[in-house]
Order: sequence, then structure tokens, then C-alpha cells
Amino acid sequence: MALKNQYLIDLLETVKKRNPGEPEFIQAVTEVLETLQPVAEKRQDLIDAGVFERIVEPERQIMFRVPWVDDNGKVQVNRGFRVQFNSAIGPYKGGIRLHPSVYLGIIKFLGFEQVFKNSLTTLPMGGGKGGSDFDPKGKSDGEVMRFCQSFMTELCKHIGADTDVPAGDIGTGAREIGFMFGQYKRLRNEFTGVLTGKGLTYGGSLARTEATGYGLCYFTDEMLKANGSSFDGKTVVISGSGNVAIYATQKATELGAKVVTVSDSNGYIYDPDGIELALVQQIKEVERGRIKEYAERTSHKNAEYHEGSVWTLKCNAGSIKLDIALPCATQNEINEDGAKAIVANGGFAVAEGANMPSTPEAIETYLSNGLLYGPAKAANAGGVATSGLEMSQNSERLSWTFEEVDSKLHGIMKSIFKACDEAAKEYGCEGNYMAGANIAGFLKVAEAMKAQGCV
Ligand code: NDP
Repeated sequence: MALKNQYLIDLLETVKKRNPGEPEFIQAVTEVLETLQPVAEKRQDLIDAGVFERIVEPERQIMFRVPWVDDNGKVQVNRGFRVQFNSAIGPYKGGIRLHPSVYLGIIKFLGFEQVFKNSLTTLPMGGGKGGSDFDPKGKSDGEVMRFCQSFMTELCKHIGADTDVPAGDIGTGAREIGFMFGQYKRLRNEFTGVLTGKGLTYGGSLARTEATGYGLCYFTDEMLKANGSSFDGKTVVISGSGNVAIYATQKATELGAKVVTVSDSNGYIYDPDGIELALVQQIKEVERGRIKEYAERTSHKNAEYHEGSVWTLKCNAGSIKLDIALPCATQNEINEDGAKAIVANGGFAVAEGANMPSTPEAIETYLSNGLLYGPAKAANAGGVATSGLEMSQNSERLSWTFEEVDSKLHGIMKSIFKACDEAAKEYGCEGNYMAGANIAGFLKVAEAMKAQGCV
């Protein structure tokens, strides 16, 4: 969808000039502005209030040194980030990514996406994101703890239960959240819900671990049903083998599908008999190992391991036939060739567990081939929605049951699909859930920004 609206073309030019060397951020802004064209044409009041110009500029960006001492006594230095993007509808909220590829542009793209995603959840949460170029892989627990403590020593000056509430993301799971929470509590002498994704013994919510993967499947199920289909009997290709991929595999299987792949950054498993999830969990959650080991340890004789990206959809026996693709690893993992392979191998639906896993060319390929496409901001919003529910429980000083949280999550994912569907219809792009998600997410934040004046 090319930009034709002159006002938005000029704005995008300004964003490009102001944010050089940040291609992921420009990619995220471009996609949103393209789909907001019908809104810009209808809502001169939002243009007059400067909402479009303000929403693409983070309210605050914090960068800091994170020094720590490794197991050999050597000083290591990483760079920490927190981008507080937009607080129009609630405290900043968004995860912390620990991965060597992290730099300011990645955190800004994630923070920008988070603004719209959090708005879609129906809960009062603004958008933010943080992280570091620290790589937890191959580090001892002691090294991870010293890094997390150093990271929080600076971050604690900028966050708080009513200001900014970080959570997990790539490389930040229960272990890292625990170390960060402990350090925050020690430094501030406060036991508050300042982080979500906490352990169950100190304020965490049941079903938070499962929420992003489950939510992805609940959203996809709504999208399938609205188009006369379902997960039942379908073959699903999933990338990643982390938090999102594991619980998406579990829920898709529960809903009657067969998941035939999982992957990590080295390669992928193709198991035509259906992924043995307990083994993936043992390798990834318990042993922190590599997915390659699955092929050596599974009792499924036909399982194969291949180096490279799962989205080549190739295996020894031929090509991987599929119905539904759920990318759950990282940004831009599916390019145009990957999208074409999904179409050629029978895929009719793609829903994104990862943030921005499809390049613009891949999205164009889905849409021009009539695939059902559930964009990340809507499809993976179940994680942050359940973080919002964790915040509510912390404020109440109560814990809800697993069933209670899961049923609220299910209701939220249904309402997110409905909001995307209705906004797409209202703005003349029926069936384009990407446009619907961007428009619905934007309008709530935009109304709040207009009402609060030029801040
Ligand atoms: P994890 O760290 O638990 O797992 C990430 C998975 O993706 C691992 O299998 C990892 O493989 C793989 N991966 C990471 N980077 C790359 C890469 N550059 N190339 C190929 N594979 C890669 O993270 P999550 O499951 O939490 O996050 C996955 C995605 O979902 C991210 O895009 C995240 O932003 C998004 N997300 C997560 C939410 C959550 O609640 N956790 C909420 C909403 C979105 P390896 O082990 O080799 O690195």
C-alpha cells in the first residue's frame, strides 16, 4: 500500500531524516502511516492537534552503561536502553530484550509497535520497550545475575508501578525478571508490581507464561472462524522454540492442529508426526540447549534437523506442506521468498507471534495472494494483555486462578479481532486486519492525545 497522502509523505520524510541508521524503526512507521491514510483524510482535527507528528516521536529515550564482572573477574560493558514511547492512555509498558543485535533502532521499533498493541488490548497501558546488547546465551547464572543487577541499578531511576512497567521479551524470561525484581526491591525498598512476568511466589500471574502463545492461537482461531475455517485438522508451521513458540505449539495442538516445525537461530526441526512438545520444553526451558538435539532425542523416527531458516520450507523428503504459518522467532524472519514459499506450499493463513516477523514485501505477497493475515500488534497482544492483568492483581493484592486469567485473555483476544475487523470495514479495507489493527490501535491513543493537549 503506497503512501499517497502528501501530509503523511512529508511526515515520513521527516522521520527518516531524524532517525538515520534505524531501518527497523522506519519500516514500522512506514507500515503504520500507509494504513492510516484513510484516517488522515477523514480526521483533520487529529492533524490540527499534531497527533501524527507527536506519535512518531518517543516521549523519552534513555541509554546507559551496564558494567558487570564475568566469571573470570574481567569487566564487561554492555549498553542498556529504555524507550518510553507514549503514555497517553496509561503507564509505559513493554518488554526488555536481551540479544546481541539490540541497538536503539530495534528498541524504538518495538516501542512504537507497543503503543498500538497496548491500545488494542482495551487495558490502560502506554507503550515502551527496553533492552541491551547483552547475550544471555552461554553465560552462567552468576553472570546473568550480575548483568541484571547492574542493568536495574540504572533502570530503577526511570520506572515504577505507575510510571513504566517492563516485562520479558527475547532473552528475558523468568530467571532474568527475578534478578531484576530483586535488585529493584533492594534499591528502592518497595515491593510493587514494577515488572510483570514475575514468579508465582512473588506477585506473578498464572497463565502469563503461556499468554502470548495462547493469545496468538485465540486470535488466529477468531480470524479462521470469521472466514469459515478453524485449526482442526490443519498443518501448522511454527518458527522459534522460545516462550511464544512453545505455548503456541501447545494451544494449536489442543485446538486440533498438527504442528510440524520448531526452530532456533541455527536451524529447524521438521517432524511430520507432530512436534513432541515435552521434549522441546526439556531442551529449551530446562537445559537451555539447542533445537538440533530434538532430532537426536525424539522417539519420532521421521523427524529431521536442518540448518538455516524454516521459511525455506524444504526438508529431505521434499517440501513442507502447510495450512497455517505462525512465525514466533524474530523481526524480518520471513522475506518475499519465504512468503512465496508459504503460498506455494499451500498456506492460507499467517498470524504473527513475533514482532514484525514479515518484511513489507512478504506482507504484500500475503495480501496479493488473498491469505488471511493476522499482524503482530493484534495477534501477539495476549502477552502484554496478561501483563496488564498481572498489574491489576498486584494492585488488588489478590491472585486469580489460571482459568480466570485464561478466560479473560480469551475474551480480550476475541475483542481485539473484532476491533480490527470492524475498523477495517469502517475505513474501506475489509479483510485487511493489518490496516484494521493500526487504525483501531491508533484512534484510541490519538483521541487521548488530542484531549490532553500539546504535551
Ligand atoms: P525467547 O527468547 O523465549 O525465544 C526466541 C526464539 O526465537 C528462540 O528460539 C530464538 O532462537 C529465536 N530467535 C531469536 N532471535 C533470532 C534470530 N535473529 N534468528 C532466528 N531465530 C531467532 O523469546 P520470545 O519467545 O519471548 O519472543 C519471540 C518473539 O515474540 C519476539 O519477536 C518477541 O518480541 C515476541 N513477543 C514476545 C512476547 C512475550 O510475552 N514473550 C510478547 C509479544 C511478542 P535462539 O535460541 O537461537 O536465539
